[in-house]
Amino acid sequence: MGETSSELSRALSNTEASLGLEVGGGCRGTMAEVRVLVINTGGTIGMVPHESEGLIPEANKLARSLKKIPILHDAVYANKINLGDDTLVLPSSNQNKRIIYTILELSPLLDSSNMTPAEWDKIARQLEINYEMYDGFVILHGTDTMAYTASALSFMCENLGKTIILTGSQVPIYELRNDGRANLLGALLIAGQFVIPEVCLYFYNKLYRGNRVTKVDAESFNAFSSPNLPPLANAEVDITINWETVWRANTTKKFEIHTNMNSNVGLLRIFPGITAAAVRAFLQSPMEGIVLETYGSGNAPNNRPDLLAELKKATDRQVVILNCTQCLRGTVSVVYATGKTLMDAGVIPGADMTPEAALAKLSYVLSKPGLSLVEKRKMLSENLRGEMTVVPIGTKITLKDSKFIQEIAKYLFISCKEELEAVRDALTPPLACVAAKNGDLEALKALQSMGGNLSSGDYDGRTPLHIACCEGNLDIVTHLLQSGATVYAKDHLGATPLLNAIKFRHHRVICLLRMTGAHLSSQELVNVGTELCSLAYHGDVEGLKAWHLAGVDLYQSGYDGNTPSEVAKAAGQNKVMEFFKQLAC
Ligand code: ASP
Repeated sequence: MGETSSELSRALSNTEASLGLEVGGGCRGTMAEVRVLVINTGGTIGMVPHESEGLIPEANKLARSLKKIPILHDAVYANKINLGDDTLVLPSSNQNKRIIYTILELSPLLDSSNMTPAEWDKIARQLEINYEMYDGFVILHGTDTMAYTASALSFMCENLGKTIILTGSQVPIYELRNDGRANLLGALLIAGQFVIPEVCLYFYNKLYRGNRVTKVDAESFNAFSSPNLPPLANAEVDITINWETVWRANTTKKFEIHTNMNSNVGLLRIFPGITAAAVRAFLQSPMEGIVLETYGSGNAPNNRPDLLAELKKATDRQVVILNCTQCLRGTVSVVYATGKTLMDAGVIPGADMTPEAALAKLSYVLSKPGLSLVEKRKMLSENLRGEMTVVPIGTKITLKDSKFIQEIAKYLFISCKEELEAVRDALTPPLACVAAKNGDLEALKALQSMGGNLSSGDYDGRTPLHIACCEGNLDIVTHLLQSGATVYAKDHLGATPLLNAIKFRHHRVICLLRMTGAHLSSQELVNVGTELCSLAYHGDVEGLKAWHLAGVDLYQSGYDGNTPSEVAKAAGQNKVMEFFKQLAC
């Protein structure tokens, strides 16, 4: 007779207990832990009322207070893993992941109205310092200038591969009714569970691209709008990520920050009757670039030669002028003669950029060293971080053109676009993984042209990049990275593509991944010393080389305190000894 279910669960419990795992408790040995860094810059979310001054930020209060809120901190779990004073842990999520977050408070905490580009630099430096130590980042920030900071950081963070989310609130988190708790929780869950390699802004159940938002309401919890781009994610019953909209760096370069943005920039909003003198004064040296906020689809009066002459004089002096609409929605185009006149005066059309994004882009491009004016103007009209909509040139293969998906649709009696997309999204991960396994570049390209997301994982969380790294196919790895596949994807066992490449000793793939910024997670580095000793004992030079290329210290000791070179010596592994000798040179 077979075991009853209660016998089975008792046997499992005994096994768990003998392995030192908590039975039925919160601390499961197999649960993946992810680390999120929360950079607190200030803003209403952490403000307290002050008798004479009104709401002001209070330092050293947030972490202490959040520890008392059960939905933001699981004290029982925290006690078991011994966290520092500023580190908290969320209760476990549906994804069975533990999100451990550390709060790093900048000093002084600021109302965001007091922020300047110097604070953007400060935030960017923290992102740089902590980039490899955390899986994702949340930035707490006041709402007043959050759209500016989000836009600026989107440009300052070059070749971004991890999720950065700005959030805050309209009401302090310490008040009974507030939006801070939900905003912080949502931002943490997304930053901890998904690799969305963008600077995003999370507010009122929606995740937006940071350089697409603008603050539209000073009183509602629904304070932000992204008028020209749908949200990247909606946090409703489930968190649904709009993967097709997610922007990817499409590069094999490593993350780096750009600081010292150009401050000689400004926003000039034209209005009926604006004087040429006002425009002249605004464009005076040291001004190097302005965002001209025009009417409708980018129009300015073409019956005002005095005004146009001022603009022309400025562009002749190499002042860069970027045209954005005053309208909340829509794009700058040359439909009207009044819009074309501006282009003739040397003004660059800014498509559907928000003024915040346009200003940040201008400040970024003008601070890039070694670029000619022509190169700067070209960069400004290109889509650098998904900040503007550029209509693709040439025809794109659509779902409707895909014979393969069409055939499947026929059998499933599918006709509408949404159902076709659902089939494509379900089929892309396994098909892309098979293509990666077989080294079939054409198949990968075909899936891509149908709009398939090559970064999505299969049932085991393994992405095509994981598979290609196991296979060691450099061409496929290169193609995937250049198509925006993330090097930070983790499968259900917490393994990154880099670990896969190490295990299979694909040295060139490891080098390429490292170039792109790949690194091992803290989870993957547990017991590495012992693994290295075992490789040394078995004379596995190729294996040791793989770990070395991945940036791992080969001089760390194993469980018994011996280092890999000591083990090699004791085991008489001369080739390994030789390898260590070369390493030392
Ligand atoms: N004045 C505040 C700030 O921007 C408003 C807020 O956070 O909502 O810091």
